[in-house]
Amino acid sequence: MNRFSGKTIVVTGGNQGIGLAIAERFAAEGANLVLASVEEQVEDAASTLRDRGANACGVVCDVTDAAAVRVLYDRAEHEFGRVDVSVQNAGIITIAKVEALTEKQWDDTMNVNTKGVFLCCQEAIRRMRKSGDGGKLINTASGQARDGFIYTPHYAASKFGVMGLTQSLAKEVAPDGITVNAICPGIIKTDMWDYNDRVWGRLLGEYGPGELMEAWVRNIPMKRAGEGKDVAGLVAFLASEDADYITGQTINVDGGLIMS
Ligand code: NDP
Repeated sequence: MNRFSGKTIVVTGGNQGIGLAIAERFAAEGANLVLASVEEQVEDAASTLRDRGANACGVVCDVTDAAAVRVLYDRAEHEFGRVDVSVQNAGIITIAKVEALTEKQWDDTMNVNTKGVFLCCQEAIRRMRKSGDGGKLINTASGQARDGFIYTPHYAASKFGVMGLTQSLAKEVAPDGITVNAICPGIIKTDMWDYNDRVWGRLLGEYGPGELMEAWVRNIPMKRAGEGKDVAGLVAFLASEDADYITGQTINVDGGLIMS
């Protein structure tokens, strides 16, 4: 299928984990990709996609920096002439008991996970409105936008924030033919979960390395952790014409872990 042939798609946090799986899915369906992350290795990820025949470039961009975000979308327009879809996937997590949680951890988490999503949506919307062709924005929230887990109040707050900004923007830009939706991945095997497993496991006190994920996976009706490609399938659907009449929604992709 080449559903995204000729479309330009920005994916933040596109150099690894869920973001890379999303980029690979779009590349396989014919899109031009602009990958962004803070590390220079983002160009390596883009180069791998080019080796597979896709049009792709990597841009070093800290999504908390409004000027850098503007440059990211300028680059997308410069390379491919337009922005059709923007996937706000970059995110960070830290885990700490409430008395140990620092103001810096709070600020960093809100800045990347919530403000970063806002800045990218703002810049993408500017371009999409200018083109008059509409567009699709997909924001990565989390199961923690539904149900705050223990020892991550800052992360849960940042992801609930993503859901609120998704709904508000969706109402504003619907007349421009732009849809805005959010996704809530559950437990997805990435580097982020390596950290989660280690630190949550230690703080909860009863789990050795690798045991926490195993224990939590037992609560998933489908009895397995997710993979990046599970999330990529949902994102590709929301970016496609099949989702033209869907906006302001937050959709779980978690094997049934959370059913609300
Ligand atoms: P990873 O840690 O594997 O990847 C995170 C990505 O975000 C990296 O590409 C990283 O870039 C990028 N990033 C971090 N900070 C910034 C920043 N300031 N500016 C630009 N890019 C940044 O995580 P996942 O792939 O697991 O997570 C992707 C998204 O999914 C996140 O929003 C996360 O909160 C969410 N999520 C993940 C779940 C999971 O179980 N894995 C569950 C629910 C939600 P770099 O490598 O350059 O630092």
